[in-house]
Amino acid sequence: MICHSCGKKTVQIGLCLECFLKKHPILIEDIAVKVCRCGRFWRKALWEKDLEKFLGKMIFENLVVDPEIKITGIVVDPVFEERKIKAKVVLKGTYRGLEFEREMSKEIRKEPVSCPVCSRVSSSYYEAVVQFRIPVDARKTLDGEYVTRTEKVAGGFDAYVTNAPYARKLGSQFARKGYIVMHSKQIAGMKDGVEMCREFVAIKSPGVEVGDFIRYKDKFLQIMEFGRTIRTKDVSQRKTQMIPPNRIEKSEVVARKSDVRKAMVSSVSPSVTQFMDQDTFSTFELPNKYPELKEKDIVSYVKIGKDVYIL
Ligand SMILES: [Zn+2]
Ligand SMILES: [Zn+2]
Repeated sequence: MICHSCGKKTVQIGLCLECFLKKHPILIEDIAVKVCRCGRFWRKALWEKDLEKFLGKMIFENLVVDPEIKITGIVVDPVFEERKIKAKVVLKGTYRGLEFEREMSKEIRKEPVSCPVCSRVSSSYYEAVVQFRIPVDARKTLDGEYVTRTEKVAGGFDAYVTNAPYARKLGSQFARKGYIVMHSKQIAGMKDGVEMCREFVAIKSPGVEVGDFIRYKDKFLQIMEFGRTIRTKDVSQRKTQMIPPNRIEKSEVVARKSDVRKAMVSSVSPSVTQFMDQDTFSTFELPNKYPELKEKDIVSYVKIGKDVYIL
């Protein structure tokens, strides 16, 4: 067999190794690492020591390679400079069973930061704990300057934070994304006759999304917007209602956004309005309490239990 690009003999059909690598070059994405003057560096939400030992892993994680290429080995020879690390990288790999070796060079940017150990007296110091209990990995969003350590626990992880306002900032960041965020405080002891408080910020998955319907007290509410308070719409009164985030968790989801259907107003009489579902063409009637509706209007509706609500 021959390479259809250069005509060289190949073991398998397709491009030869050289042509394949020319067409699908191995790349290393830009890497920046936060390094403290003490040598500690921030990686995957942990402060680690011995950057040199981790360089191979970091480069490996930032390789961009075609799936046909398997990287089997990586050797890094670094030169540490003030603001960067110049690394000579030797990659070993296989392409369709063919072994090869490639030499590359990569500059890794160093961002000077002060680790919590250096900026505080003790590494066990923390003002707040942010308790992540959500299905997505939030570790990437953490700022190492304020996080001394993270600890895996059932259902998520805890981040120990040296600065309470930063913990609150994380809380509101996640509240805006629709997560349930709860704040609490605990007395952590006395210092100079003053009670010391430790703050806890718990971030949980709401299990509901914008557009879903919940039972709240004796009402059905549709979630309109997440935030410090949650904006909802009472589906029977068709009025806005604000509710506190921690109430969502205990509420039963009665319908999903995907349960919303379209119907056309097929007739209006003084006492009833008749609707026709736009997919099934089945009809239903409601007492005429929608004075704004005219025949042929298209409306959204949801069925909760036996009852129909026009949205
Ligand atoms: Zn070729
Ligand atoms: Zn340090």
